Amino acid sequence: MKLNLSLLIGCLLAAVFCQSAVAKRNVVATTPDLASIAKEIGGDHIDLTILAKPTEDPHFVDAKPSLIVKLNRADVLVEGGAELEIGWLPNLLDQSRNAKLAAGAPGHVVCSQGVPLKEIPTALDRSKGDIHAAGNPHYLVDPANAKIVAQNITEAFCGLDEKSAAAYRANLKHFTEALDAKKVEWQKKLDPFKGQQVVAYHNSWLYFGDCFGLKIDLFLEPKPGVPATPRHLADVILKMKADKVHVILVDPYLDRRTAETVASRTGATVVDMTQFPGGVKGTEGGYIALMNYLVNAVAKALAGK
Ligand SMILES: [Zn+2]
Repeated sequence: MKLNLSLLIGCLLAAVFCQSAVAKRNVVATTPDLASIAKEIGGDHIDLTILAKPTEDPHFVDAKPSLIVKLNRADVLVEGGAELEIGWLPNLLDQSRNAKLAAGAPGHVVCSQGVPLKEIPTALDRSKGDIHAAGNPHYLVDPANAKIVAQNITEAFCGLDEKSAAAYRANLKHFTEALDAKKVEWQKKLDPFKGQQVVAYHNSWLYFGDCFGLKIDLFLEPKPGVPATPRHLADVILKMKADKVHVILVDPYLDRRTAETVASRTGATVVDMTQFPGGVKGTEGGYIALMNYLVNAVAKALAGK
């Protein structure tokens, strides 16, 4: 019995020791696309929590008290920046009282750093209801920007966990190479449609369009975040007919019925798009699976006309 007891104590001590030896960084990402890239870099060295659901509007995430608890326990926060989360994250962060995640702290990663943001307004005017006041924050659907984000996350992880830096850098190299290879494939799929115009519900596909040579510059919303009006939609329908635009992109949290009404008046196809892995069936596998889905869905819709 005595022997068994010392054996038990020995095992417990070993378990405690092992646990501390492989202590994982507790990483919280605001949205599932950022989480997917954090996972690519962090691998088994991190535990990952995501604040927004893949079907939630990233501008208007439900700020539940449970999210404060998640932030309170985090070692690292990965956010998109460019004011994407300005409507809900600052308040949650304040309430989480976690100094590791304070603005400017090494544990607070703002992924938009170094990303060439588009549509930065020359004059700030939020009175128009514009929720893209710091430029268009939906930059991650361009693989070139995914590489910048992966680099930002790698630098932060390496700074916080030097022992695993070699692993993080190896994961970055692997992810970057995989993206470069896929980009060639994606480009080839969308090349036949270069210059074509596409309608989007919200202005969340600018970077995707620019990356693959599509003009995604006509929107069902009169301004980002402002609901569609019958008058605005009538105008969009006229333009779609005049310019022979046949594809409408809609995100899961937007009103698909409005898109369907416009489609029925113009003979267009509605395409279910998502910025986030898991937002639409077939995108669950992570960033590359997401981009695969988006490229194929848009190519199929454009080829159908
Ligand atoms: Zn937006």
